[in-house]
Amino acid sequence: MAGFRFIAGLALALLQASAFAGMLTAARMWPSPDYTRITLESDAPLNFKHFTLSNPERLVIDVEGIGQSETLANLSAMVTAADPYVANVRSGLNRPGVMRLVFELKTPVKPAVFALNPMGDYGHRLVIDLYAATAAAQDMAQAPPPEKAVPASAPATAPANLAPKFNRLMLVAIDAGHGGEDPGARGASGSLEKHITLKVARKLKEKIDAEPGMRAYPTRDGDYFIPLHHRVNKARGVKADLFVSVHADAFIRPEARGSSVFALSENGATSAAARWLAKRENDADLIGGINIDVKDQYLKRTLIDLSQTATINDSLRLANYVLKEIGEVNTLHKNDVEQAGFAVLKAPDIPSILVETAFISNPEEEKRLNDDAYQDKLASAILAGIKAYFDKHPPAGRTTKVAREM
Ligand SMILES: [Zn+2]
Repeated sequence: MAGFRFIAGLALALLQASAFAGMLTAARMWPSPDYTRITLESDAPLNFKHFTLSNPERLVIDVEGIGQSETLANLSAMVTAADPYVANVRSGLNRPGVMRLVFELKTPVKPAVFALNPMGDYGHRLVIDLYAATAAAQDMAQAPPPEKAVPASAPATAPANLAPKFNRLMLVAIDAGHGGEDPGARGASGSLEKHITLKVARKLKEKIDAEPGMRAYPTRDGDYFIPLHHRVNKARGVKADLFVSVHADAFIRPEARGSSVFALSENGATSAAARWLAKRENDADLIGGINIDVKDQYLKRTLIDLSQTATINDSLRLANYVLKEIGEVNTLHKNDVEQAGFAVLKAPDIPSILVETAFISNPEEEKRLNDDAYQDKLASAILAGIKAYFDKHPPAGRTTKVAREM
């Protein structure tokens, strides 16, 4: 009995001693059109609970074991007027050992609050993702991808003016690699892959939109993290005809250089280097941080799709055209298109490629990647490859060149 009391007392003492054991080391906010993410980084795992309140709309998060700090106090200063969800953040001690964070909201939200273990340069993270609560804007990762629409053939008896027109725009999904919590690779002089990919992607979008009969659809247009499978789902949601993911390569040895183009592989990577690269690019989800529940749902859904083989063949064709054009602008890292298990290339019905524009880890290439004129050249080369592909392989539904030029 005395022993039990001693142990219980000791446990209580330890509990009290650890009441403020955790320390917030950083706080970040990433508002975006898709969702707003708030990340609280700490030196120890945090216990937390959350609930929402209405009139006015609020999200309350009780975090155990952290004290008031400058990091926490600065959170409200990070709220931008453009944030679609958050109006203000307050924090204060709710009861001994429990810090209460109150997010004052502009609109009802569907929150996802989850913890992440240390990964990459990050310590423990408490992630708060705020999605629109409306049915139309369901938790982005959970909405099943819409079925690809197949243009219906005209009934033989249909009047000519009711026949389907196959002059719809060719839609190219442009995927700027990384973003937000996930910086991607880092150059020797500090350039981040996520900023370079966005710049090249924006230039490519502009060029595609300027082409008659073509439109670009950016998977992201700002500095925020999008899970890999959601990039795929977004492209499928708009029924994109092609998917082009823009990246910048990195290697331990600074002399590694050149551009490469990749497609998905069904049966393992074409080289050890390609396998390594795909793993690094797929780690984006771990660095950026996704809710494990959502990830599981996604994995359950990712069954072998018979249309994948045909799509990969088209992806390889597209990749070869783009590789040829990029070869006019930069040294090629490898002379052939390579294949590996890139998660972002897994749309079963959209030819998809991943372009490693150059090595950000090579000081000379890092400099060029930051150069506006060079980014423009890269974008032009990718566009030329896409056009060459469309010329030879018009997507189903617009099989004649004449129709596409209408
Ligand atoms: Zn990348």
